[in-house]
Amino acid sequence: MSTVYLTEITKQFGSVTAVKNLDLTIQEGEFFTFLGPSGCGKTTTLRMIAGFYYPTTGKVKFNERDMTKVAPEKRNTGMVFQNYALFPHMTVFENVAFGLKVRKLKKSVIKEKVTDVLKKVRLDQFIDRQVSQLSGGQQQRVALARALVIEPDILLLDEPLSNLDARLRDEMRTEILRLQREYGITMVYVTHDQVEALSMSDRIAVFNTGECQQVGTPTEIYNEPVNDFVAKFIGETNLLPVTFEKDVDDQSVYYSETMGDSFYVNKTDLNIARHQEVDQLSISIRPEVIHISEGIIEGKNVYQGKVSLVQFTGEAVHTYVKINETVTIKATDLNRGPKTYLKEGSQVNVYIPEDQVRIVPQSGSDQ
Ligand code: ATP
Repeated sequence: MSTVYLTEITKQFGSVTAVKNLDLTIQEGEFFTFLGPSGCGKTTTLRMIAGFYYPTTGKVKFNERDMTKVAPEKRNTGMVFQNYALFPHMTVFENVAFGLKVRKLKKSVIKEKVTDVLKKVRLDQFIDRQVSQLSGGQQQRVALARALVIEPDILLLDEPLSNLDARLRDEMRTEILRLQREYGITMVYVTHDQVEALSMSDRIAVFNTGECQQVGTPTEIYNEPVNDFVAKFIGETNLLPVTFEKDVDDQSVYYSETMGDSFYVNKTDLNIARHQEVDQLSISIRPEVIHISEGIIEGKNVYQGKVSLVQFTGEAVHTYVKINETVTIKATDLNRGPKTYLKEGSQVNVYIPEDQVRIVPQSGSDQ
């Protein structure tokens, strides 16, 4: 097992800066995820850990060893690709045994190791089947087994589940987590799927245009985004530009021009992200914290609006409330039965709890 240190990493491809000034430590035994939109530098970073790319500047270290310019086959990392990269005309056994044969292990040892790992990924009954005759999920398990069998210090996975349907993806998430716990291996996982990242990771690094925006546990990233990009990328949110108005006791008041109204926000680190005085700010309001009622709601942060759309998704109900011509707020509630659904067109009061919103700087606004 290894701790991975990335220090001041920049990777240029000609004039394109794929990764910029990245500092990151991935702890031994951690399930660490790179999350971000397409083209933000996730794969490039993963490939620099694997050794397929060398950084333009900066250092890659595994524990105390400088690996910056070490060839991939000398790093003892395993890699699982989105397209599996299996040999379709070989059997499951031959695919999984490949890396061990390259390492020139004895036949009997190879047999034992392959059988063992195939049991772990629950494919032992398919050992002699050709890979082309397996389902997508089974092929993904072969790819996992092939990467695990060499007993890597670090397992790198590049969007390994994106070719699978939703149900299989769900099953494989659990499977990968089980294997990670069983092997106690350091895993670095690339995805643009936030549900995958939130539900699997010990920690997540959120990337945007080559820069790491935030590193944290899933709950930190979701509840305490450092800027509007992270707030918007992870989960759903209502984001409105605001300006600081004044402090009132233990709360701060922010004015939203588009709402034509103010928000009271608790003056805590949980509710107000760190920012500079010059930063442009937004308020991030998660749909699930909003209360809507046809009756009167007493207190601060209560706004009137009209229900413009009610969207039923099975387990949840989304209610869109039009506050004025430019602002429509989305609220989400768990499905509590037809009697609780609001009618489109009805006048409602919207309450936004002062302790459950977050003021965030707009990303790049201080540059
Ligand atoms: P995706 O989710 O689409 O795979 P990503 O976040 O993994 O995206 P990267 O593949 O790391 O993004 O790419 C980051 C940037 O670097 C992109 O602008 C991409 O076009 C560019 N890039 C990546 N590899 C190369 C290359 N070999 N040559 C030139 N540019 C590249």
